[in-house]
Order: sequence, then C-alpha cells, then structure tokens
Amino acid sequence: MADEGNGLFATALAQFNRGADLIELPDSIRSILSQPKNEIIVNFPVLMNTGEYQVFRGYRIQHSNIMGPYKGGVRFHQAVDLDEVKALASWMTWKSALCEIPFGGAKGGIAFSPRDVEPEELERIVRRFTHALGANIGPDHDIPAPDLGSNPQAMVWMMDTYANSTGATERQNVKRIVTGKTLETGGSPGRDKATGQGVMFCLQHWADETGFDLSSARAVIQGWGNVGGATGRILQVHGARVVAASDHLGAIADEDGIDAFDLTDWVGEHGTVSGFPNADWIEPADLWGVDADMVIPAALENQITADNAGQIKAKVVVEAANGPTTLEAEAILADRGIEVLPDILVNAGGVIVSYFEWLQNRSAQTWNLNDVDHKLRDILWKASDSICEIREELDIASRRDAAYAIALRRLKVVYEQRGIFP
Ligand code: GLU
Repeated sequence: MADEGNGLFATALAQFNRGADLIELPDSIRSILSQPKNEIIVNFPVLMNTGEYQVFRGYRIQHSNIMGPYKGGVRFHQAVDLDEVKALASWMTWKSALCEIPFGGAKGGIAFSPRDVEPEELERIVRRFTHALGANIGPDHDIPAPDLGSNPQAMVWMMDTYANSTGATERQNVKRIVTGKTLETGGSPGRDKATGQGVMFCLQHWADETGFDLSSARAVIQGWGNVGGATGRILQVHGARVVAASDHLGAIADEDGIDAFDLTDWVGEHGTVSGFPNADWIEPADLWGVDADMVIPAALENQITADNAGQIKAKVVVEAANGPTTLEAEAILADRGIEVLPDILVNAGGVIVSYFEWLQNRSAQTWNLNDVDHKLRDILWKASDSICEIREELDIASRRDAAYAIALRRLKVVYEQRGIFP
C-alpha cells in the first residue's frame, strides 16, 4: 500500500486496513479501495465585489462507484485540501455500503471561508465551481450534497447551474444532480435534520442494547451547525439535556441544561454560541472534560486527540462529525472503557435521506416526513443490528472495526461477482 504520510487519509486507510484484515479482504480489492478512482481538482476564477477576479481551488474526489453512483457532500472551508477530501470520500463509500444504500463514495470541497465572502460572491463561487466540474458530476454518475460550510441554498445554485447547462429536454430530469436542496426546489422532508435524526436513532439502539438511560442523559456537543444543532434539539425533545456546547468562536456550559431551541435561535441571529446569555462561558479546551454521559463531536475531524481523550468523563463518544477521533485517541478511549459509536454509522442519516431525496426526484414524488423518519430508522437500526452480530461473530469489541468489516464484506462480494475488468 502507498505511503500516505500522517494526514487524514492515512487515518482513513488505517481504519480501512483494520477492517480489511478482519475479513481477509484479498489484496487486489484492498489495493483498489486504498485509493480514490478519480481525483478532480479545478482552479476557477470568480468576479469579486471589488471588481477583481479571484481564483479558487475546488475538489471532487470520486472514491468508489462499484455499489452505485458516486455520492457525497461538498465542504466549504479554508482548510479543505486533497488529503482531507480523499479521506472524506472514502468514508462515504463505507457509509453507504454499511447502510445498504446503492451509492458509492465521493466528496468535494472548495478551499475558502464562506463567512468571509458576500452572499452574491458565494453564489458566483458555487455556480462557477459547478460549471468547472462540468460532466464530472451527473444525476446518475456523481451526486453532491451539503457538508460543513455549505447548505441547501448552495445546493439549489448547483442544481440550477447544472440544469441550465443541459439541453432543454433534459432540464426537468436532472433535479437529482444534487441532494439536500430546499423543499421548494425538490428537497426531501426531513433532509435538513437527517444527520441529527440519524444520530438519535443510533443512540437509541445503543442505549437499548447497553441499558443506557437516554432520557436523563447529559450531552456535550462540539459544533452547533446543522448536525450539532439538530442533534441537540432532538435529544432535548427525548428528555436528554445539553450541558455544554461550542463552536469555532467559543464554548458554553450549564449543568442544568442549555435550551437547544433557544441556542439555535441565538446562533441564527449571532452566528455563534458565544455570548448566549443563559449559560456560562468556558474555555473551549475544557469542553471535553465537562461532566456528561455522552460526548458528541459534530464539527471537524481530529478533535478528540491524545491530548484530550484522557479528560473525557462520558461513557460514550458519538461521532456525528466525520473522523473526529484520532487513532491515538481511539486507543486511549478503548483503554478507558469509553465506547465510540463510529462516524460511518452515526452520521449516515444525511446520505440515507439524500438517497430518499434522489428516489423522490426520480419518480417525481414527495414523501411525508413520517415515512422518511421511519425508513431512516429502519435502515440505521438494521445497520446497528448487523454491527452487534458481527462483533459476536468475529469476537471484537470495536464498533468501528465491526462497521468496516460489514461494509467491506459487501464490497468484496460485489467485486468477486462482477470481477475486475478487463
Ligand atoms: N455530507 C454528508 C456526509 O458526510 C452527507 C452526504 C450526502 O448526503 O451525500 O455524510
């Protein structure tokens, strides 16, 4: 296997190789899945409000399409780079395989801070990126979605740009080129909260299995964006309480519970949890050590590290973000008897409801929210069941290794049946 340094993709490969060892994945398949199939980088100019042109760098990494079209979000963040997007793309492949969604894995991104541009500049960046990707994406080929820093409006601009670049007779047919759109333009009920809802379903299954009392549990949530906010609100509705929350500008705590709905309103108005009047300000570095039952990273990767894993008091780390736990931190947590519910299961609600949106667009239908939630729950509970079964079968403790083993077994069977062409 290629030397991938010590970046995020190296972490992703280490996780993959552990799973591959467990199921004795043949070397031929292992080497194919150790690299993305396609790495697309586009540098594109955008007219800024100053009247100057600025060149942006965008990525679309297509990891695997053996199970279906490439699928995954686009991230807008200043730290986006090739290594990160490769890791994120591979995680999409495992996520869909684990949940039996007929998609492959991809991820994209643009290296810039969406907070630092004007709304009309953002629109031009998104549209120009979509145009630059051209035929590299397509409604049955590679289907983007929101990720950190992007949102439903950005998806609508992508869809509109793509649709306007096709022939007139195709235009109505290509809505499913992106998922995570607004409801009015073809989005699915429940897509907005899907990742948070999925976190809740996975937690319910785990709580049932382990005898954990979710209805009185205290949660620490890192990140109050789409995923962290929805998770906090859904937990609160089920009786749990958020005792600490943070974002890129600060952290707050209150042992009696922070109202997740009020905090969402506050963040909507002020753009940050900082300054929220009904909680105490704490040092962001102290977030992990807050007395709680669950720790839920819902922001960037590499947040739980060897430096802070020892501070965690919770019983479980719930990976609502992609790749939030470093390899070293995971070993420390395992030694300390703290469970990790892995990202490729826990945050799969987003891509699962993206699949529902794609199906609805294909058949020009709109499902109701109840149906969406029930179907999402069934898929995540089935995946959670299969993790329990394979842990017993292979006699392993790690839920991440179990999740990889399931995903990789499915990929292995498909490779073996299809063969490798030519
Ligand atoms: N960006 C989300 C993820 O990391 C959702 C991807 C999608 O809906 O395609 O899973």
